[in-house]
Amino acid sequence: MDSNRGDLILYNGRIYTLDPSQPLVSAVAVQAGRIVYCGADADARACLPNCPPENMVDLKGACVIPGLTDAHLHFEWFSMGLQQVNAETETLDQALAAVKKHAASLPPGRWVTGTGWNHNVWGGAYPSAGDLDRVAPANPVALDAKSKHAVWVNSRAMQLAGIGAGTPDPPSGKILRDSSGAPTGILLESAVPLVKRVIPEPGPEEIARAMLHGQSVAHRHGLTGVHCMDGAAALQAFQLLHAGGELSLRVVKSIPLENLDAALKLGVRTGLGDDWLRIGGVKMFADGALGPRTAWMLTDYDADPGNSGISTAPVEVLRDAVLRANRGGLATNIHAIGDRANREVLNIYAQVARELGPTGLRNRIEHVQLLSPQDYGRLAELGIIASMQPIHATSDMYIADRYWGSRAAGSYALKTQLEGGAVLALGSDCPVETLDPLAGIHAAVTRRRADGSPGEAGWYAEQRLSVDQAVRGYTAGPAYAAHLEDRLGRISAGMLADMTILARDIFTIHPMEILSAAVLGTVTGGAFAWRSDALS
Ligand SMILES: [Zn+2]
Repeated sequence: MDSNRGDLILYNGRIYTLDPSQPLVSAVAVQAGRIVYCGADADARACLPNCPPENMVDLKGACVIPGLTDAHLHFEWFSMGLQQVNAETETLDQALAAVKKHAASLPPGRWVTGTGWNHNVWGGAYPSAGDLDRVAPANPVALDAKSKHAVWVNSRAMQLAGIGAGTPDPPSGKILRDSSGAPTGILLESAVPLVKRVIPEPGPEEIARAMLHGQSVAHRHGLTGVHCMDGAAALQAFQLLHAGGELSLRVVKSIPLENLDAALKLGVRTGLGDDWLRIGGVKMFADGALGPRTAWMLTDYDADPGNSGISTAPVEVLRDAVLRANRGGLATNIHAIGDRANREVLNIYAQVARELGPTGLRNRIEHVQLLSPQDYGRLAELGIIASMQPIHATSDMYIADRYWGSRAAGSYALKTQLEGGAVLALGSDCPVETLDPLAGIHAAVTRRRADGSPGEAGWYAEQRLSVDQAVRGYTAGPAYAAHLEDRLGRISAGMLADMTILARDIFTIHPMEILSAAVLGTVTGGAFAWRSDALS
């Protein structure tokens, strides 16, 4: 009786398969988590004659694409953030109301954490511990300022941290005090850790619970898979979800560099796992970021003479790590932003390739944010995956212009990489940016922000991707990066049934409207992980 369990037919749609043999079909038939047919409506029905009527879904002309995968995000960080108070409010009272609501949902004694406040927006005076005591008397509270240079705490939090009138200010830090010398609840700079160190780290169960919420948010945005760049706790939490049958997102989990030795000792290789949860590459960093001007540059930043950024790990250390990882069957994902960092990483990959010969591993550079023209073609030459985040281009465009000047022509250069022959695996770097993949596709296609800036043509218009190229960057690209191209990234018979259903046809609407294309449904493994009322 179970033979038709998991049968699903989607029909009357505009289904973009990314399969060149039949790029656009109207129906797809799914059995036991895999696609068994795509083509015409009647043939899909004939293919699964016992499909229960409730599993035959009339798409009413909706657009279907292969399931979208975010190839670079921080899923634990994102999910834990969802559990926090958003204190980025217009008034102090709004922030206090949010704390009150959150505290009421927690048992007494559990920490309330949050971020985003800015007292300048609230009239200029710092808020106080007493404000928080009134709305959360039974819970310790610690809220980071948006700047991250201050934390606002209540009396319970100060008690737990042992902060009182007698506590001296730490060197280069400050505990704000009233006229009697009592702390007011604001800790600045190096006083911030006084309280941070007493907040308990979340355990895997708590992270898993948070991720369950994160997963539902991801599905609502049309994501069927993620490449998660967080650490060992995230890997544990994903395993808990998987063991409990609750994982409905395909996860490729990177390993932090600090765990390379342990992974090698254990014999873990890239690809270990199954179609839901598998080990990706070893994540490491070559430099900082553009915002704080710590990205490692070949020459100084414009408007910042004498500063060429920071190499966050000695090149020899990175080279040794890549060599050992690759030799042990582990691919590597190296964060590189500046043109110097990218060059050094490319040099490392070239040296390791010479030393080891073909390994079959798909090494990556994360971000590929700025390349010197002479390095444009080297990712393709070396077979390095370009893991890029289109929305960084539009978020960063003004600071890139300011600090990279004309060099910015080689920054966030998606089209240059694609046309040069590199595989693009696109993502969001969430929670640094929104995980909404439509926002990423929109940025890649338009090189404009949601508000339309910097104007019609977009920023460095020659780097705009077609919708087809951008969608491939979120589907076939991440699948290839994870050696999953034989089962993900395309809608065709034999592939895993992961699909994203959109209200509007993003291939034909005005590119600015991609942002409002609206996800109607998200199917993973042949089941709806998210389904809007419009599809019932
Ligand atoms: Zn990241």
